[in-house]
Amino acid sequence: MDTTEKFACLRQAAPVLADWYRANARMLPWREEPSPYRVWISEIMLQQTRIEAVKPYFQRFLEALPDLPALAAAPEEQVLKLWEGLGYYSRARNLQKAAQVCVEEYGGELPSDYERLRKLPGIGNYTAGAIASIAWGQPAAAVDGNVLRVLARLFADETDIARPAVRREAEEMIRQVLQEGCAAPGDFNQGIMELGETLCIPGGAPSCGECPWRRFCAAGRQGTAERYPVKAPKKPRRVEEWTVLRLETGGKTAVRRRPAKGLLAGLYEFPALEGRWTEEQVRRWLSEQDAPVVSVEDLGPARHVFSHVEWHMTGYRILLEREWQGDWRFVPWEELKERCPLPTALRAYGNPPVRKEEPV
Ligand code: SF4
Repeated sequence: MDTTEKFACLRQAAPVLADWYRANARMLPWREEPSPYRVWISEIMLQQTRIEAVKPYFQRFLEALPDLPALAAAPEEQVLKLWEGLGYYSRARNLQKAAQVCVEEYGGELPSDYERLRKLPGIGNYTAGAIASIAWGQPAAAVDGNVLRVLARLFADETDIARPAVRREAEEMIRQVLQEGCAAPGDFNQGIMELGETLCIPGGAPSCGECPWRRFCAAGRQGTAERYPVKAPKKPRRVEEWTVLRLETGGKTAVRRRPAKGLLAGLYEFPALEGRWTEEQVRRWLSEQDAPVVSVEDLGPARHVFSHVEWHMTGYRILLEREWQGDWRFVPWEELKERCPLPTALRAYGNPPVRKEEPV
């Protein structure tokens, strides 16, 4: 289809989708009261995270930080702790930075227009469009990978959806269709997301028979939906090897804070050595450092996959006679559990703690 045909198709299909959404929307916690703050928190949490996984986090976050000024004023560690396990922690830090900007510049509220939303930390085209359309009813597009997949099938378009031009075209088409008043912006944007999550799913056969767009959809008609979207193969991830040391003494364990920038910025971690060390090598290293070691226990391997890098880890639990100084501090179990945000990547090595008390 050329651009004119795509426009014509979308103009006809948009109101059908909005009607379908109003009749079929799943009841989700953030849809009950779609205030700008709740829409924003949910949209940020839902990036790269499944709906079912987000639900308890959303409830807990809203209970602890019920509005934007509360988020702006909270200690960063509290925000990261509430995010612990959700991953992509820069999302949480940017939420708080954006809340602080809103307190300083917009009287403690999120702005209602797309352009000003777009300038806030952590808010890209998609999130600005989602907040502007769902919470404020503005004719803004909210295009993510889910939406691009549905549109690639609707138009039977073989262009690689990773190309920025494809996203720009989709945003422009949707914005124009919404500006023309073809459908309520919030219902249309949520409808296309809902379609992509429930019927026009990735990595499997879509449920074309139940789809409100089946009479408009080129790939659905041709029975070729699974061929779309076309994506260029991804580059392989970089692999890093780490040896994690869980140093313990008298009911405390050693942790340090990661730098304020970069992967897992500001989160806590156990001390670690670069590379994969055997138990023998770790024992020798500890002895060379004059560490007051009681015992060393092999905790086995673990692996964690980030978007661009994989950690291949091995871990040792090292009981010490007394606290041993390094670029870490020893914290009691309760503090570690309640106050120190640890990344999911390190969960295999002690979150929650392996045992509560150790005789030394
Ligand atoms: S008809 Fe099938 S391929 Fe087309 S939008 Fe609906 S579920 Fe997706």
